[in-house]
Amino acid sequence: MYIFRLILLLLVSATVLAQNERKVILASRMIDVVEGTLKNDVLVVIENSKILKIDKASNKNRYKDIIDLSEYTILPGLIDCHTHLTNPYFDKSIDVYETAIASYGILGTLYAKKTLDAGFTTVRDVGGYFYSDVALRDAIDKGWIPGPRMYVSGKSLSMTGGHGAWANWLAPHLQIQPNPGNIVDGEDEVRKQTRTLIKNSVDLIKINATGGFGTSKSIPGAASFTIEEMQAAVEEAQKRGLRVAAHAHGAEGIKNAVKAGVTSIEHGTFLDDESIQLMKNQKVYLVMDILAAHYELIEKNDDFSDKEINLNNQEMYQKLSDNFNIAYTQGVKMAFGTDASIFEHGRNAEQFHLMVKAGMTEIDAIKSATIVAARLIGIEDKAGSIEEGKWADIIAVKGNPLEDITVLEKAEFVMKYGKIYKSPVK
Ligand SMILES: [Zn+2]
Repeated sequence: MYIFRLILLLLVSATVLAQNERKVILASRMIDVVEGTLKNDVLVVIENSKILKIDKASNKNRYKDIIDLSEYTILPGLIDCHTHLTNPYFDKSIDVYETAIASYGILGTLYAKKTLDAGFTTVRDVGGYFYSDVALRDAIDKGWIPGPRMYVSGKSLSMTGGHGAWANWLAPHLQIQPNPGNIVDGEDEVRKQTRTLIKNSVDLIKINATGGFGTSKSIPGAASFTIEEMQAAVEEAQKRGLRVAAHAHGAEGIKNAVKAGVTSIEHGTFLDDESIQLMKNQKVYLVMDILAAHYELIEKNDDFSDKEINLNNQEMYQKLSDNFNIAYTQGVKMAFGTDASIFEHGRNAEQFHLMVKAGMTEIDAIKSATIVAARLIGIEDKAGSIEEGKWADIIAVKGNPLEDITVLEKAEFVMKYGKIYKSPVK
């Protein structure tokens, strides 16, 4: 009888051991984004997909099979709150009018891998065509392909003639329905389309509160939806526990969106004092994609003269950078987001040095892409910091990002849910 029990016990133990896969990381530096400090000589013990324990490096003899990152700084997996992982906008060889729907998903698999390899283990993807973002998110979750964990909005809501309305490019006689641009006017249509998006499994709602740079016949500074229309989207989203992100460049549209109850303002290009105060008071996050702006205005030097902007590109970027600085110093909550798709996916971390150049401290820039970003998405109890019980999303870089932020552009180790996707050591 005893022998049977013993065998049973051994079998059960073996199963438990097999199920609990442990990994131990040794690092000379770890960025604690909650305390805002650098900790030296740590061991992070990972069990399956979660962080089990953080220990001192001096206890390393208690562990076996250590992943030696002693020449590296570890920090939480980065989070980009404004991507379009299924959008090939940067690649001018791809004509969207000749692209099959499935191609967006296929391209997304390439862009997702590049983004993960760059150290971004989570993204908030705000505007994907034809639910290609939903499909990509699910493919990553199921382990079919490597990529960051995604929180997706589906196609953003646009008004007739607004940003993102595909019909803007077409002559009046070619503007037939159904239109892929998610065009809705009036509270009832906004409500219905929000419900449809939720039914089709999005994680958040994106609404275009002003015009945009990328859309024909659209003025970035001009407000679009009314407060009531946006409130309809917020109400429907809230019933299901979802949040609303508002694309907004002009100050009037920013204020309307904040008054309607959105959680974040995307871009915020023409912020004024009043909109900054309103955002601060309402605790609305600002996701300012200064890398996309820098790419278009400085690196590519695109012509925006048809967009009613009376500034040259250099002045325009300077204004944006100044507004970033004012919002930051005034205490607006700043979450990291790049608008990857405007520039090639995987370059996301290049935004950190632009944020520091605009006046943000290195630790706040890192927080904006970790714990603050996690709060914006609503996953701060599971992600955004290296803490016991959280998902094991960990990256490593050479050097110290608190001294030189550009080291974040070279993530050499990437772990998501405890699985290693990239490593400099065996
Ligand atoms: Zn965008």
